Amino acid sequence: METVWRLVNINILIWFDINLNCLQNPPNSGMYQPWEVLIRPVLEYAAEIWAEGPWEEAEKLQREMGRRILGVPVHTANESVLGDLGWWELKARRDKARLKLLKRLIELNEDEYARRLINDQDSNWRIYTNNVLRTLALDVTDSRYITDHEWKILITKKMQNKEEERWRIKLLSKSKLRTYRRVKTKLRLEPYLKCKSRLARSLLAKLRSGTNFLRIESGRYDGETIEQRSCYWCNEVEDEEHFLLNCELYDDIRRNTLENLALSEELDKSKKLKYLMGSAKVDEIAAATIAQHVLKSKKMRDRFMELLH
Ligand SMILES: [Zn+2]
Repeated sequence: METVWRLVNINILIWFDINLNCLQNPPNSGMYQPWEVLIRPVLEYAAEIWAEGPWEEAEKLQREMGRRILGVPVHTANESVLGDLGWWELKARRDKARLKLLKRLIELNEDEYARRLINDQDSNWRIYTNNVLRTLALDVTDSRYITDHEWKILITKKMQNKEEERWRIKLLSKSKLRTYRRVKTKLRLEPYLKCKSRLARSLLAKLRSGTNFLRIESGRYDGETIEQRSCYWCNEVEDEEHFLLNCELYDDIRRNTLENLALSEELDKSKKLKYLMGSAKVDEIAAATIAQHVLKSKKMRDRFMELLH
């Protein structure tokens, strides 16, 4: 079974790479996204009936797809991948589907065959469903006197809160995500992902996740202390905040960007960082300005590094 799954997994990834053109579309563009349209539905087919508990191989596949969509390296933290795409774990999606089915079954007549699934209090299906309800502080009777739509809203909200809490606890344990935590507090699709340039989206995702080209990261692999991971231009520690907000090498580019975004240079640093890391809610024009900012800054850095070597 494990071998079969591995083969399926490899084939899905190869197929996904062949369809790489689809990845040019921003994840929130409403355009064709193979993961959401073709692959995930297969993993979730009739899951409300058969799925109970975690399925780690499927979670790994989702995270790998997320990395490919964002264009980030394989060792990028799971929390930044799921966080930027606003994705729940697949288990949460399956559990939610189960609760939707529960309501439909409860409304069946007592003599209907499918109703047996919920009438048997000792069945695995019912025991697992009760556990899911309990973790969301819900009871089976909560679904009785509301419409399907209201029930769907209620379980989505409860599940979102639970997933967000779980994601936030994991986020706190990752030292690499120190800058990420300053700009990202909600498990939702990030505004920078509406930018049309795949290259800029990938660059921003790498900057946000701390897995990038800056000395704070490259120095880690060379065994340097944090103080030694300094910017070749100004000798300060070269981390994401330094690159985006502080280094004088990029002063002109930064001034121009802030002007185009109608932001004052005196604006609070955390707010500026939120904009330049793509977490502030902006329109498409502003998203393009932020994309240009990171592309130009990276180009400037590459040119400077070339001169050094
Ligand atoms: Zn510098």
